[in-house]
Amino acid sequence: MLALQGAFIEHERMLERLGVETFEVRQLSDWLQPKEGLIIPGGESTTQLRLLNDLGLLLPIRQAILDGLPVFGTCAGLILLAKQEDGLPREGLCTMDIDVCRNAYGRQLGSFNARGKVNGVAEDFPMTYIRAPYIHRTLSPEVEILSEADGHIVAVRQGHQLATAFHPELTEDDRLHQYFCDFEGYTIKEG
Ligand code: GLN
Repeated sequence: MLALQGAFIEHERMLERLGVETFEVRQLSDWLQPKEGLIIPGGESTTQLRLLNDLGLLLPIRQAILDGLPVFGTCAGLILLAKQEDGLPREGLCTMDIDVCRNAYGRQLGSFNARGKVNGVAEDFPMTYIRAPYIHRTLSPEVEILSEADGHIVAVRQGHQLATAFHPELTEDDRLHQYFCDFEGYTIKEG
């Protein structure tokens, strides 16, 4: 669990309920422990990115994802995984072929609850949006759209990478976490 900032405790509780052991990554020495996956929580992507850089975590985490470590990013985590923002390359982990729109729903109206279909996971999944991004478009056919809301892409999978604009960890529904825990790692090509 990336635990630099944001809503990581809620993810930990959900994984605990599923019987999955977690540990918190706050510095490079934590990161070196053996692991089978990484969750990047919601929060503030700018702050998380600054801390990832300052702590020397950005490149090792990026490389691990490229080497096949399963990763699940929610909200700010999705933003950190995206290669583009508003059609331009962005800084971050940049491992997912998606073009993201930050604070897409405006600052005041940005928080709301909805329900929607998540392909392969649930017909009717509870979705909590908090100053959420959405995905303008996918940048590669490798990216599978799992969910759309109001004509915007809000959940995607690219091989061993999963990202949602909403916060499943803030609901009681653990089916997306269960879905993620079934991922297996494999290597993706750089470029
Ligand atoms: N708007 C935040 C950002 O840009 C994300 C909000 C969230 O993670 N709930 O990082």
